[in-house]
Amino acid sequence: MKATDFRTNVISTDVLIIGGSLAGLTAAVKIKELQEDLDVTVVDKGGIGWAGAVPTGGGHLIILPKDADLDEWVKWAADRGEGLSNIEWLNNFGGNLYESTMELFNWGLPFMKDSDGKLHIDDAPGWKVKEKLTGWVTHNALLQLRKRALGKGVKMVDKIEMVDLLKYDGRIVGAAGFSILTGEFHVFKARATLIVAGGCRYKNRRLWTGIAGEMIAAAYRAGAQHLHSEFGVMHSNCSKECQMWSRGAGQQDALVNALGEKVVSKYFPNISESFSRASYAMYKEVLAGRGPIFFDVSGRPEQYEEKVIDNIHRWTRMHGAFLNSERILRDKGGINLRTQKVEWIPGFLGSLGNIRVDLGCKSLDLEGLWAAGDSIKTGIDMEGAVPPGDYGAWPLSFALTTGLIVAKSIAKFVSEIPEPKIRREDQKALKEKTYAPMTLKSGLKPYDAVFRIQQAIVPTKYSAIRDGKRLKEALGIIEEVQKEMLPKVKAANPHELLKYHEARGMALCAEMTQRAALYRTESRGSHVREDYPERDDKNWLAWTVVKKEGEKMVLSKIPVPKAK
Ligand SMILES: Cc1cc2nc3c(=O)[nH]c(=O)nc-3n(C[C@H](O)[C@H](O)[C@H](O)COP(=O)(O)OP(=O)(O)OC[C@H]3O[C@@H](n4cnc5c(N)ncnc54)[C@H](O)[C@@H]3O)c2cc1C
Repeated sequence: MKATDFRTNVISTDVLIIGGSLAGLTAAVKIKELQEDLDVTVVDKGGIGWAGAVPTGGGHLIILPKDADLDEWVKWAADRGEGLSNIEWLNNFGGNLYESTMELFNWGLPFMKDSDGKLHIDDAPGWKVKEKLTGWVTHNALLQLRKRALGKGVKMVDKIEMVDLLKYDGRIVGAAGFSILTGEFHVFKARATLIVAGGCRYKNRRLWTGIAGEMIAAAYRAGAQHLHSEFGVMHSNCSKECQMWSRGAGQQDALVNALGEKVVSKYFPNISESFSRASYAMYKEVLAGRGPIFFDVSGRPEQYEEKVIDNIHRWTRMHGAFLNSERILRDKGGINLRTQKVEWIPGFLGSLGNIRVDLGCKSLDLEGLWAAGDSIKTGIDMEGAVPPGDYGAWPLSFALTTGLIVAKSIAKFVSEIPEPKIRREDQKALKEKTYAPMTLKSGLKPYDAVFRIQQAIVPTKYSAIRDGKRLKEALGIIEEVQKEMLPKVKAANPHELLKYHEARGMALCAEMTQRAALYRTESRGSHVREDYPERDDKNWLAWTVVKKEGEKMVLSKIPVPKAK
């Protein structure tokens, strides 16, 4: 088959939103509220309302109560950022958090309520944090948001894999992709294009296999800057048997070595909760011959009850939340966490979301482009630059808050943006490139490339604990995938073509991460280099930037701006 076998549909809209999950649908509703006449189109490769990371999520959200001391919270959060925090963005996020959450509460989303009908706000049980928590029934939240968006006249196009952004005279004028059902090519012309397509999660865990970084890669190819890519390798930990995780403040305390010693507090006595530190400790204990590692609360189940299953979890479970890790472990794996000592391993979560944006979520480099939610990097991060997309209960709040922030920015600027134009030859060239894997008579399977990329990023030695030699090895594997494997991948149908484009996105995201990790010659937070074990404030109080220049991936650093 060849590109010309597939029909081209051209759709014009004022605002194109790529990704119909929390950030995307929140932005869509708000843009329509602010400017009813704007034509807003949401496109997603999955089923809008069901796709993305929200429906499978835990449903915890952080919140700062109305009377919270913002300065105190910003200072506390900045301390956790290990010197790399962006204070302006912390103020932007923290300062909008309460109003944003209340806005979605007032839209009727299924948040926890007190008996008087007000939003339930609680302490975070056991977590040593300055913010409070609320919760919602996570899968219902998205479906209700979808309903609200449709009611406002937002247009939705499901099952379209978006591949690349379109440019005209240096400005982003939309994007293109194909239907994963019929294969038809779809070109969306737009004054404003918003990327809210999540981060890159590398397909190694079952709950978020569609989040593969294609739009992060597309923004890079179009010339956007990407920040702090080295920190996009978040870890959690899980049961070896059925790879299901459990989490909470009691979790870290429950990890013991073969001698029954607590492993995390041995290395990090002062850290309350950190998945990357836990992975580090588990790895070191196994190397020292004291493995395997177990999750063990068998002698003290009441502690587990109190800390890990907090009341918000109970509430969401009562209302049918999907993610109940304890139940899944019991029903699918035959494991009773309360009475059994269970073998436990580090588990790679990945998650690279690194597009650089201003305080309104507008691209700093490309006119016509905005990004929000898990796709962006703002510097409000933890453990160096572990993004909110990976920090307990931050990501949902970040996605909805940035969804509202970006909507205001788009509504403000969109009328100034000229009518989008697309060159015929650009459209034709992109179409041919998109379908190239379908023209091959024989070749590799897309999953051959996916598995090989995972080998360069998932292992603990390339992610949680690095060194220069191993990072070069990982980059060698990625180069092999890009030069030797991807050009030989054959797609027999649109579904395999989707997998090819996911593999291509993952390869570029893995390259950004490993190149930036090699570039940052120090250890800071979750970025641990065995060959540079110390934190180096003299040279590295800086944000790393990855950018495409010609055909080269160029790295640079910018000093962290001083707090004003
Ligand atoms: C198991 C799990 C539990 C979690 N629990 C919590 C929690 O308790 N609290 C919390 O705060 N956060 C939690 N999170 C994180 C939270 O769900 C995410 O941070 C949040 O969903 C981010 O929203 P988003 O809109 O930015 O992106 P996503 O939800 O990742 O959605 C991205 C959307 O873009 C679409 N897309 C991607 N690529 C393309 C493409 N090329 N073309 C077209 N469409 C595309 C996807 O299909 C998807 O619908 C959890 C995540 C997981 C996976």
